[in-house]
Amino acid sequence: MPEDIRPWQAQQSFQKAAGAVKAPLIMEVVPGSGSCQISWTKRPGIIEGYIILLGPDPAQLIDEMQVKDEILPGERQTINLNCLFNGQTYFVAVIAFASGGRSEISSLWKFVPNQSLLHRKAEKVPLNLLPRNSVVQGGGVPAPARQEPVLHTPKPIPTPPPPPPRYGPEVVAICGGCRGEVVLKIERRLYVCRTCQVEYVQRASDDKFIPTRLLTDGICLCCEPRRPLVKAPADEKILKCSKSGEFYTRKADQSGLVKISELEYGICSCCVFRYPLVRNGNNIVCSNQPTRIYIRNSAGQWIFKPPEPESGAGVDIDEIDRALAEGSAVMLPGGVLSTNSPRRPRRRRRS
Ligand SMILES: [Zn+2]
Ligand SMILES: [Zn+2]
Ligand SMILES: [Zn+2]
Repeated sequence: MPEDIRPWQAQQSFQKAAGAVKAPLIMEVVPGSGSCQISWTKRPGIIEGYIILLGPDPAQLIDEMQVKDEILPGERQTINLNCLFNGQTYFVAVIAFASGGRSEISSLWKFVPNQSLLHRKAEKVPLNLLPRNSVVQGGGVPAPARQEPVLHTPKPIPTPPPPPPRYGPEVVAICGGCRGEVVLKIERRLYVCRTCQVEYVQRASDDKFIPTRLLTDGICLCCEPRRPLVKAPADEKILKCSKSGEFYTRKADQSGLVKISELEYGICSCCVFRYPLVRNGNNIVCSNQPTRIYIRNSAGQWIFKPPEPESGAGVDIDEIDRALAEGSAVMLPGGVLSTNSPRRPRRRRRS
């Protein structure tokens, strides 16, 4: 029996316990110097105590501390975690336990302990960062760095049910790298070599299996299993699923791809790629260059509206250059142009 339990095992135990043990609601996570204060409120249900899960990333949460349940539903309980390293990122969750098992994780928080004045507020992070389908048995995951050892007092837990199958049964190809068997990897909808773990997708044009690392344009979100994306023939700044024909573009923060059909305002025409247009106050702007405003043309399409000429419009760049060269004007810091001889008549540019 592993000394520490992973969050997904906690979830599996929870399913067995049929909802009797409910996770508390975390109300506040307040980082301090080498410490963090966590408070939560109890939800109705049978609870013996709480377990603080802590780790340097969501995949490495381990039991940090066990706390006896001392509150009524709706009341607030607060603890302090000490001996943390200033400047290190930690993830924390609080679950409840009872003899029936452990609760699910209802929220996950990220915080960085630091000296006073360097504190940042803790942030709630999406639960989908938790590795639900990972299968890690036993120890081997290092505890987060602590200045002093902490006493672990984990509750004995029921053996978790066997993990769901991760691979499809059928061998679809032989790995080009190691001659291992390539099968469908169920949770990511990709094919994978069982031996070397290289991931594959099936090309639509010739049904060949291609390692995903060789793809230059990524993989789709529309097909199961996933298919390679290709540059759209009509517009190489966007991508197209080679199987379904669905069009994609990149998110401006480079966090992934998005289906163009799902964008409310369409895509920009001002960048190297076409990024989603988004609403910014009263304007529709390019999400990559938010100063670029788009307006709707008579056909209802969003088109880039060139910026209004600034005041001082009509200033002739050649004329400024000539004035600077002749010493009749100087460029002040900040790009301000100052004329030395304001009475000198302006010469017109020959054209
Ligand atoms: Zn292989
Ligand atoms: Zn697709
Ligand atoms: Zn743009």
